Amino acid sequence: MSSPHSLDSGSTAPLAILREVFGYEAFRGPQAAIVDQVTAGGDALVLMPTGGGKSLCYQIPAIARARAGHGVSIVVSPLIALMHDQVGALHEAGVSAAFLNSTLDWQEALDVERRTARAELTLLYAAPERVNTPRFLELLDGLAARGKLALFAIDEAHCVSQWGHDFRPEYRALAVLHERYPAVPRIALTATADALTRADIVERLQLQDARQFVSSFDRPNIRYAIVEKKDASTQLLRFIEREHEGEAGVVYCQSRKRVEEVAQMLADAGVNALPYHAGLDAAVRQRHQDRFLREEGIVMVATIAFGMGIDKPDVRFVAHLDLPKNIEGYYQETGRGGRDGLPADAWMAYGLQDVVNQRRMIDESPAAEEFKQVMRGKLDALLALAEATDCRRVRLLAYFDETYGMPPDAPEGEERAPLMHCGSCDNCLSPPAVWDGTDAARKLLSTIYRVQQQSGIGFGAGHIMDILRGKPTDKVKQFFHERVSTFGIGAEYSETQLRGVLRQLIAIGAVEVDAEKFNTLRLTDGSRAVLRGEVPVRLRESVSQPAPRRSRRER
Ligand code: ADP
Ligand code: ZN
Repeated sequence: MSSPHSLDSGSTAPLAILREVFGYEAFRGPQAAIVDQVTAGGDALVLMPTGGGKSLCYQIPAIARARAGHGVSIVVSPLIALMHDQVGALHEAGVSAAFLNSTLDWQEALDVERRTARAELTLLYAAPERVNTPRFLELLDGLAARGKLALFAIDEAHCVSQWGHDFRPEYRALAVLHERYPAVPRIALTATADALTRADIVERLQLQDARQFVSSFDRPNIRYAIVEKKDASTQLLRFIEREHEGEAGVVYCQSRKRVEEVAQMLADAGVNALPYHAGLDAAVRQRHQDRFLREEGIVMVATIAFGMGIDKPDVRFVAHLDLPKNIEGYYQETGRGGRDGLPADAWMAYGLQDVVNQRRMIDESPAAEEFKQVMRGKLDALLALAEATDCRRVRLLAYFDETYGMPPDAPEGEERAPLMHCGSCDNCLSPPAVWDGTDAARKLLSTIYRVQQQSGIGFGAGHIMDILRGKPTDKVKQFFHERVSTFGIGAEYSETQLRGVLRQLIAIGAVEVDAEKFNTLRLTDGSRAVLRGEVPVRLRESVSQPAPRRSRRER
């Protein structure tokens, strides 16, 4: 790839660069302060939601510093597609940029290396695994010796943390940059990081002295809704038909098989849907991605393999048919909706099986116990969000340490106060009726206990609920479970209600699901407090019909 023309000349003033090179009038939010900090040679840690405009935060300092004679800026990014897009866009803007990654043959790579060594490039994008190679470090040594190493930008910085949702071991090695070139300024950027991950980024990348720029994580145009999963496919189809006919969206599913099924189901129903997962041929994947980006109104049904680095402004909805692993993942995926600032829906269907599956995945993973504990904590936070009866936005932002109504980047001097309602999530729009599930919870726990006592083995959720509701099924008779003292004492509860109670009991750790024994239920240390009535169990009233919403035309 050849550079259009060199940018040795021109203003080093950030605002002039923003206007001349990128054609934008003004900086957005904290961009100006970040650019100033880094251009002046300081370090920065930038937390900004997807679509906030992170790229300019390092591209403009890179151009300013190159024009001031400081040489080449190195951008570390794990996303090959994003590198290609950005380098392409920079070329169009007349900025000399290139990338080094596995898509180049050795001749091309050699050419990029030569141009880097001569400091002809303003920005060099490199994959993290490349940065720590002796060859690459030698290249940097040569530049540094001549004072031609201008800046390190570390994109997707959460990849350095195993508490983040996308840990990449190669990122750990990036600490070498600071150790080897302490005088070169660094900027690390990420779109999602809770407090734990943020602290980990600072420590791992030795950014203790960096100035932190935390933007508000609120995406006001995204409306969050989490519904109880009944027949997920039909629910999804109804949601699309009623709210998003003919519009572009992404549907996330957990497995490849499910992606295929759902894409087929939607296509059969006349929705313009395409599947995307890592098991598809690379060419097919590319074709589907291209169509999604170029055509209007395509619904991409995908595993989480899809979406990183994809900048499509008019995605009108992001749907989750399966529960993500944690709030970071959920937030990043839903953040792909509404990048143009127009209304977009984040819709999720969630049920008992999701809780069971996610817990099992953690339990069965080969990871260390400490790691599993953190993962369980993160899953619990997501479950609490799903079960919440109050404002989803308030809870989401609180997870990222932000108080709704008091954004960290609010202009100084402005009066701010915490807000309890966003007015646009499902719980704000139609506050759910809440019922006290404490009695039902105690009866469920007693039944699990007594059945275990009587039969010496555990049983699954369906059977336990049958006993409690007094249903004399064949299985109940076979095990003489009509004789259990709790048989029929929960007849007033519907199966849906009991499922809700069980889901919450599992979510709070008061019931365990034994995956190795056919998903049988058993009590835990946490059961006792619920049995004693010390932990209130408050539940959303199950709504069989979603509350009516305004039609698309009225919106
Ligand atoms: P992020 O990496 O934070 O997700 P990007 O850097 O891709 O976001 O920016 C998102 C979009 O916003 C891009 O289309 C970008 O060109 C645009 N953008 C960024 N900063 C500005 C600005 N100051 N004025 C206008 N548009 C901007
Ligand atoms: Zn709300």
